[in-house]
Amino acid sequence: MKKKCILLLGLISLLLFSCKKRDVYQVDPTLDPYLQLFLQEAKQRGFNFNVEEDGLILKFADLESPTIGLCTYSNPLLVQIDRTYWKKVTEYNNCEDLRQNVVFHELGHGLLNRSHDNHTMSNTEWKSIMCGGDIVRDRSWQVNFSGMRKKYYLDELFNTRTPEPDFFKYGDTFSGDKGTLVESYDFSENKHFTDADGNVYDISNNAYSITTNNEYNNIVYFHMRKNFTGDFYYEVKVKTKLAGNGDCVGVIASYPTSDTTGVGNYFYISKNNNYNELRAYAGHMQCMQPLAEVILQKDVCQLGNQTETKLAIERSNNELYFYVNDQLIYRNDYMADQKYVSFGLVTPSKNTVTVTSSMCYSKSNGSLRASTENSLSTVFANRGGAIPFNIPISIK
Ligand SMILES: [Zn+2]
Repeated sequence: MKKKCILLLGLISLLLFSCKKRDVYQVDPTLDPYLQLFLQEAKQRGFNFNVEEDGLILKFADLESPTIGLCTYSNPLLVQIDRTYWKKVTEYNNCEDLRQNVVFHELGHGLLNRSHDNHTMSNTEWKSIMCGGDIVRDRSWQVNFSGMRKKYYLDELFNTRTPEPDFFKYGDTFSGDKGTLVESYDFSENKHFTDADGNVYDISNNAYSITTNNEYNNIVYFHMRKNFTGDFYYEVKVKTKLAGNGDCVGVIASYPTSDTTGVGNYFYISKNNNYNELRAYAGHMQCMQPLAEVILQKDVCQLGNQTETKLAIERSNNELYFYVNDQLIYRNDYMADQKYVSFGLVTPSKNTVTVTSSMCYSKSNGSLRASTENSLSTVFANRGGAIPFNIPISIK
C-alpha cells in the first residue's frame, strides 16, 4: 500500500512536472523554415534551444502598421509576424533577407533575451539587427542584412562583442587606380531641348544641365556600352543644390534584364533638413528600399550650385565601392557581380543638376567596344519611382 502510494504520488508529480515543462508549441509551417534557420545559426554558435519543450507560438498576425513583427514575453513565448509585410516583400529581390531579418530580430528578443541596441558602426550603419524602438535621428531601422554583412550581423546577434569588420570602415581614400579611360562624355557641342514631360536639357559652356520637372527622382544614363563585363570605375562631377528632404543626387550602374529593360545598383546623397546633414544611400533597384544609410561627415562634400562634387562608383572583385570626392563612403556586395553596361546619374525631382564631366573607365583588360550612340542622354523612365527617395521608416 505504501509502495503504491509513493508510486501514485510519483505519477502525479511527474504529470504536474510535465504539464509545467511542456508548453504550447505552435509554429506556422511557413515560418518554420525561418525558425529552423535561426536554431541552426544558434547551434553553430553554441546555443542549443529546445523550443518544442519550452513552448513557442510563432504565427502571422495583422499588426498595426508600421509594426512588422512583435514579440510578447508570455507563457509560452509569442512571436507575431505581420501578414501584409510578409506578402509585400515577395515583390523584391531581397525578399528572403527581409523575412529573415524580421523573424531573427523577434527571436533575438524572445530566445536570446536581447533588448534593442541602437549603437552604430564607425560608418554610422546600425551595429545590430536588434536596433529598433523609438525613431532616432529620423532614421529607418533598415539594416543591410545581405551578402558579407549578413554573417557579421548573425555573429553579432549571438555575441554582442563581435568586432567591427573592415567593410564598415568609412573615409578611406580612393586608390587612384581608375583603369583605362573608355569614354568621356562630350559636352563641347551646344544642345538644348525640352522633352514631353517638361524636363529641360542644356549643353553649353562645356557643361550639361538637366532640369527635371518630374515629381519622382530620375535616372540619366551617360554611357551605354557593349561587352563591358569587367571591373569598372565611373566618375561624374556635378553641381547641384539639394532642396530638402528626399531630394537626391547620385550615380548608378545598370545591367540589362531583357532587350528593353535593365536594373542597377545606385548610390545617392540626400539632404536631411531636420538635422542639416547629408546622408548617403546605397541600394539596388529591385530592393524595397535602400539597403543602407550612412550619415556623411561635414567635410566630405558641400553640395552647391557653384561647388563641384565628384561622385564615383567602382566595381572590384564583385564588390561595389562608392566614393564622394575620393572618400570611400560605402562598399557593398549585394548583386555586385553583374555585367554592367550603363552608367549615369540619379537626379533630383524638380531641380537642376549641372554635370561638368562624366567618365567611364575599364579596370580589366577584357575586350571593350565603345558604344556608337552619340545622342543626348535624357531622363530614363523612372515613373514607378524605381529608386526609392528615402528609407521609409519602419518600427519592429
Ligand atoms: Zn524589436
